Amino acid sequence: MIERVIGFAGAGFSCAVVARELVTRGPFKAVIYDERTHVAGNCHTSRDSETGIMVHHYGPHIFHTSNEHVWNYVQRWGRFENFSHQVKASTAKGIFHLPINLRTLNEFFGKKMSPSEAEKFVQSLGDRSIGEPKNFEEQALKMLGRELYDNFFYGYTKKQWGVEPRQLSASILKRLPIRFTEDLSYFNDPFQGIPRAGYTAIVENILDHPKIEVRLGERLTREGVKNFEHVFYSGPLDGYFSYQLGKLNYRTVTFEEHRADGDFQNHSVVNYCEERIPYTRIAEHKHFAPWEKFDRTVYFKEFSKQTEDGDTPFYPMRLDPDKKLLQDYIKLAEQETAVTFLGRLGTYRYLDMHVVIEEALKLAEVCLNESDIKRWPHFSTSPLSSGAGG
Ligand code: UDP
Repeated sequence: MIERVIGFAGAGFSCAVVARELVTRGPFKAVIYDERTHVAGNCHTSRDSETGIMVHHYGPHIFHTSNEHVWNYVQRWGRFENFSHQVKASTAKGIFHLPINLRTLNEFFGKKMSPSEAEKFVQSLGDRSIGEPKNFEEQALKMLGRELYDNFFYGYTKKQWGVEPRQLSASILKRLPIRFTEDLSYFNDPFQGIPRAGYTAIVENILDHPKIEVRLGERLTREGVKNFEHVFYSGPLDGYFSYQLGKLNYRTVTFEEHRADGDFQNHSVVNYCEERIPYTRIAEHKHFAPWEKFDRTVYFKEFSKQTEDGDTPFYPMRLDPDKKLLQDYIKLAEQETAVTFLGRLGTYRYLDMHVVIEEALKLAEVCLNESDIKRWPHFSTSPLSSGAGG
């Protein structure tokens, strides 16, 4: 049987999942490139050499999904501990639970409302003059009213995205639920967990196959595509074309690392919602692994800024000019006969890990069912669909 050699740009979940499915179920070999020196992309975790704490190097990652198939899939590659993510928000009026829930509402407004009273109360706060919300700010004002918006969302969102919230898509806010119960979990999904040995170990296990070769510290560029029968590209879409039409806007995140004795905030994540505080949140890593005990602690202050040359792109901004440029890049991508773009950067969408894995599994299925490689799709999912966020 002739083995077809497929190239992969990026050793994150997207390419790892597709490669593993192809090599185990079809006549393929995979060569995976990543310019970084580790696998797992922005999910990368490793133990801090000084304290032994598992650190999420590119910010907190909590696995959550409502898709049982995806949940079962990730658990094939390592043990996940149950972890119900809870977030606190530091506002000008004090520290409260996020997403906004019954307890947040009662504490913030100094009331003792029942769930149905709280629901009616929030409805009374919403701005009824707004029809179909056209942007993030309108969505928030319509749903929650001015006071909650100003305290929990305006400052944080402006710091996180670097623009006025009315320039952002309403769908970004839809990521955050509002609840009229005491359920404090940040996510609604029934399956939530954190891998005991970290995400990097999970991705290493997916890649651990004799027909997968991983080349770290190396880049697969457009010129390298000709060496393969097909390439899956999970790097930035505009970067593949050497930014020839211009740059898509991304936010990047930088971290200020701190170490201390004991416990810093007794909580995994505290968001800082006030505009006057320069960072967006503080993540204290040992609280992502409550099954482990440490005398010391590591916490990261997280700052958000516009991506410049050399920065790691994190969040696709998808402002109106970006969406126009995106359409032009899609046309270029559709002329590439041997490349499939996938994942957060390849499709320029704000995606959570579980969505990336779900899309990668579906893409692998499509490719395994199409023996004519030339007919493999240009994208895992259209970049014009919004994904989990904006
Ligand atoms: N957000 C906010 N205040 C907060 C948390 C979130 O205004 O304390 C807004 C912000 O615009 C953010 C969006 O809600 O981008 C979605 O939040 P999520 O936690 O999903 O963002 P992530 O941490 O995944 O980037």
